[in-house]
Amino acid sequence: MALIVQKFGGTSVGSVERIEQVAAKVKKFRENGDDIVVVVSAMSGETNRLIDLAKQISEQPVARELDVMVSTGEQVTIALLAMALIKIGVPAVSYTGGQVRILTDSAHTKARILQIDAQDIQKELKAGRVVVVAGFQGVDESGNITTLGRGGSDTTGVALAAALKADECQIYTDVDGVYTTDPRVVARAQRLDKITFEEMLEMASLGSKVLQIRAVEFAGKYSVPLRVLHSFQEGPGTLITLDEEESMEQPIISGIAFNRDEAKLTIRGVPDTPGVAFKILGPISAANVEVDMIVQNVAHDNTTDFTFTVHRNDYHNALQVLEGIARDMGAREVIGDTDIAKVSIVGVGMRSHAGVASRMFEALAKENINIQMISTSEIKVSVVIEEKYLELAVRALHTAFELDAPAGKGE
Ligand code: ADP
Ligand code: ASP
Ligand code: MG
Repeated sequence: MALIVQKFGGTSVGSVERIEQVAAKVKKFRENGDDIVVVVSAMSGETNRLIDLAKQISEQPVARELDVMVSTGEQVTIALLAMALIKIGVPAVSYTGGQVRILTDSAHTKARILQIDAQDIQKELKAGRVVVVAGFQGVDESGNITTLGRGGSDTTGVALAAALKADECQIYTDVDGVYTTDPRVVARAQRLDKITFEEMLEMASLGSKVLQIRAVEFAGKYSVPLRVLHSFQEGPGTLITLDEEESMEQPIISGIAFNRDEAKLTIRGVPDTPGVAFKILGPISAANVEVDMIVQNVAHDNTTDFTFTVHRNDYHNALQVLEGIARDMGAREVIGDTDIAKVSIVGVGMRSHAGVASRMFEALAKENINIQMISTSEIKVSVVIEEKYLELAVRALHTAFELDAPAGKGE
């Protein structure tokens, strides 16, 4: 008998019929003798609908109140799923994040889980009930409702699995595993049987939204066996694993991630003196804007250009701060660009292969795609390009690194 935490995402609980299908699936696992804790997201589109409502009141709603509201999405689905389970004869009970006591910090809309009190859940399981827990939400020390950031139900699932020492955490979604890239963009993307935590972490942080970054971090830290599966199709899914087999067949690149959520800012003609980077990025960071890629050009005429990227949501804020800095420093001008995208190739195989980056640049050059910025690490190469070439770039790289499924498959 195993203890399994199963998380079902928004589309998997997107209608009453689907919720009933999920209940039937959970019932099957129960009949195998497994103990089941289910984590659910809000019905698909619901979180966006709630955020839009808030934005009709204020462009920047008070974060505490936003959390009170968006957390209701998950509260609806836990009750519906518990009802659906009870209807088919499976004893079940729903819990909100606060009722479990998923304790988080107080960073509303992006809170981190600090601790989970698993006692009540364990009691319910002992009493033979399926426990249905609301994803995405917690409670801070003062009892305020918090949420964990978009996609946060994945993290609830993994954190519960860690707290309960579950045998496996299964993330059920609308694709049958983790693919070499988003299968909605590249029809010939292939499902991976396995991917290492390290690679999955890079893929998630570089834009693959199939798993929330913190869920992968948590699973790695607490060695939670983690698997991504299709909610309604049978199949092995993708196992996120610790072991990094050293085999000859190991692909150089495991996947391609992309991100449309960034914007680029350039400050031109900055006097090239020591401390330039700090003078520019200090105020940006003080304005609570996170910076991703950074490039400082080689100076000539004693001035230099400095470019960096930020989340698109922070663009206007960053632009305003940068214009102030430009005035103070006597810089020539500030240029902003929101029509950019970041494409990254990821793979632990890169460590033992040379020439990976140049192969990437060659593939982009062949398509006449201009690279605006580059950043590399041991297991990834990222480039910033014009957004309109994003899909072309991803497809070209998928082919160049021999990731395409054989013709006829997946198309
Ligand atoms: P859920 O609502 O179940 O949490 P998400 O929409 O958050 O589902 O995540 C699943 C989606 O992630 C897929 O529909 C797919 O379009 C997207 N995706 C992006 N990159 C990948 C990838 N490498 N492998 C699989 N899916 C991916
Ligand atoms: N409902 C939340 C969201 O849409 C959390 C989740 O689905 O994981 O981001
Ligand atoms: Mg998700």
